[in-house]
Amino acid sequence: MNSTDTAKTPKGLFIRTYGCQMNVYDSERMRDVLRPLGYAPVDGPEHADLVVVNTCHIREKATEKVYSELGQLKKLKEASGGRMTIAVAGCVAQAEGEELIRRQPAVDLVLGPQAYHKLPEMIARASRAVGDRLETEFDTLEKFDALPKARNADGPAAFLSVQEGCDKFCTFCVVPYTRGAELSRSVDDITVEARSLAAQGVREISLLGQNVNAFHGAAPAIEGGPDWTLGQLCRHIAKIGGIDRIRYTTSHPRDMDDDLIAAHGDTPAMMPFLHLPVQSGSDRILKAMNRGHTAGEFHEIVAKVRDARPGIALASDFIVGFPGETDLDFEATMELVRRTGFAIAYSFKYSQRPGTPAAEMFGQVPEDVKDARLQALQALLRDQQTAFNADQIGQTLDILVTGKGRMAGQVHGRSPYMQAVHFDGPPDLIGQIASVRIIGSSLNSLTGEFITAREAAA
Ligand code: SAM
Ligand code: SF4
Repeated sequence: MNSTDTAKTPKGLFIRTYGCQMNVYDSERMRDVLRPLGYAPVDGPEHADLVVVNTCHIREKATEKVYSELGQLKKLKEASGGRMTIAVAGCVAQAEGEELIRRQPAVDLVLGPQAYHKLPEMIARASRAVGDRLETEFDTLEKFDALPKARNADGPAAFLSVQEGCDKFCTFCVVPYTRGAELSRSVDDITVEARSLAAQGVREISLLGQNVNAFHGAAPAIEGGPDWTLGQLCRHIAKIGGIDRIRYTTSHPRDMDDDLIAAHGDTPAMMPFLHLPVQSGSDRILKAMNRGHTAGEFHEIVAKVRDARPGIALASDFIVGFPGETDLDFEATMELVRRTGFAIAYSFKYSQRPGTPAAEMFGQVPEDVKDARLQALQALLRDQQTAFNADQIGQTLDILVTGKGRMAGQVHGRSPYMQAVHFDGPPDLIGQIASVRIIGSSLNSLTGEFITAREAAA
């Protein structure tokens, strides 16, 4: 039977995505792989023939959520008379492997982040009840080679994965174990995908990688030539017709090279927003985390970035309660935040991850101390975010309109600084860049008044 035959009988596909933007991208790619087999998205697991749970292993809470969701799916599978197929993908699948099937026998398939292209084959094997239900080999390039080159864009803003894995081995983090060694896609491969997105009306591309600024992809059509850096790649993508906006995430301070910083100043398509996780403001803790830089070096990078692109919005990640963190260390983090000023930040209590060096360290911090520190840090970060948003009142910003608002007659989109913006306007603005005067702000969004729309760049 060929793919056209199977496409005649649509089968329901429901993918639940946890965790980072790379997982969101991976879920989109799984939809692409499954489409030729006749799988079409449905809006709930109860209507699905195949449910994929795309998982995150970064903190213990995220992992436990997966097992509780699988318990719910088991009931739905029983109600379907066993017809539903349950697949677990992503980093929990990679880390737990067979243990997942042992703990929840209703699971049919387990596939790690480098095995999505094998989904069709695994589903076929499962339906014939032959062969392995587990695929957790690491082969990032094989995956990218095997995935369909064409993407189905879902709106005017899209993710594009350019780099995977990590060799940095921060002592708290599972990523190097679940996503494997650092690997970059070739510039040619990325260009094909970016052009296909642009042809479908995508105007903003977010380049993704666990350490996206460690990117070192093979140069276009030059076998064995020097690899390109992320700065070069951004300038190249900025030249693709229709692409007005470029973002990238997540970067590491150690890989923030001068050329990438310069690109923020000389490439207008690069949005004035940088997510640069620092984790802590204490040099002692940064060393114990194996981050490879000091707080002072972080401040130097921030100064250079602000020099290249005045007004750039800065985002970061923080961990409180890393083993051995004292009140003084925590105060150094608060000081770094006060000195830098963030537009948005993500902060977490340290979570002990089995198999990582920090899990075995002395001086694990009691939960109530972690709670108090997280509250204090988040209060400060909320104040900064509220102030950053309020600063936009009275400005006219270019908003990429991405969808209809919750209220009738409203649309919403993103500002160059990544803020959500709501304003009154017709739905045909979706996919366009609108000039909007900002008239209100809150912690999480802005409101504005529509002025005019701008067509896509040729
Ligand atoms: N590669 C990025 C970097 O180096 O900053 C971060 C990627 S990681 C998937 C996203 C965030 O999760 C980290 O920046 C960190 O703040 C948080 N994180 C990772 N491991 C953690 C742990 N064991 N406990 C708490 N937060 C953790
Ligand atoms: Fe994890 Fe550190 Fe690698 Fe980021 S750089 S993915 S935090 S090991």
